[in-house]
Amino acid sequence: MNFDFQSHRIHDYRFLEKRWRSLARRTGLRGKVYASAEDFDLWCYCSPALRQTGGIYLSAGIHGDEPAGPEALYQWAELHASVLRDLPLMIFPCLNPWGLENNRRTDSENRDLNRCYHLDDLPRIKAQKILIQQHSFRLVMCLHEDYDAQGVYLYEVRKKLTLFGRELLAAAGYYVPLDPRKMIATEERESRYSRGTIRIRARPENPGADRDDSASD
Ligand SMILES: [Zn+2]
Repeated sequence: MNFDFQSHRIHDYRFLEKRWRSLARRTGLRGKVYASAEDFDLWCYCSPALRQTGGIYLSAGIHGDEPAGPEALYQWAELHASVLRDLPLMIFPCLNPWGLENNRRTDSENRDLNRCYHLDDLPRIKAQKILIQQHSFRLVMCLHEDYDAQGVYLYEVRKKLTLFGRELLAAAGYYVPLDPRKMIATEERESRYSRGTIRIRARPENPGADRDDSASD
């Protein structure tokens, strides 16, 4: 894929919004503004194939200084435009537009939104939870970027381990090396499943809350 980094506006939320709207028009995804925050609209896109059960949840951009997530999610969707409407998708292209615009991990009030899913007093998170709770998902992926990483790694919910994580890493490993470290330094935890996978405890009912402790990411 050819990127023009000079003109590529990776921190430009309006540009990301515009591309998603255009892609949705072409592919039949249904877009909905489910909340607004800091003068930005927050979008959710669902495919016609999404049902109450068996869905696929994809989100990115909850940490605004990790623009690779929103960009990768968009690029993936664009690349698979012809099949998007047939996959049971619920997509949140960017959960922290202010952070993306300002290259900040947090929102404008210095909250790490990824640590706020246990709260019910943030309208943006409350609104997202209402959407999510109408479905059960067979796959939930929350995309992050780690600029200290030496390669790709993922966290998996401990109680629900499948082969999928390893398959995913095998596929990713074709393009990006797997992080070889036994300890992910910023996480201060051992990757028990070395070669990229870290098991975690998590509350599957809150897909946005991909962690239940205070380590970063
Ligand atoms: Zn992150």
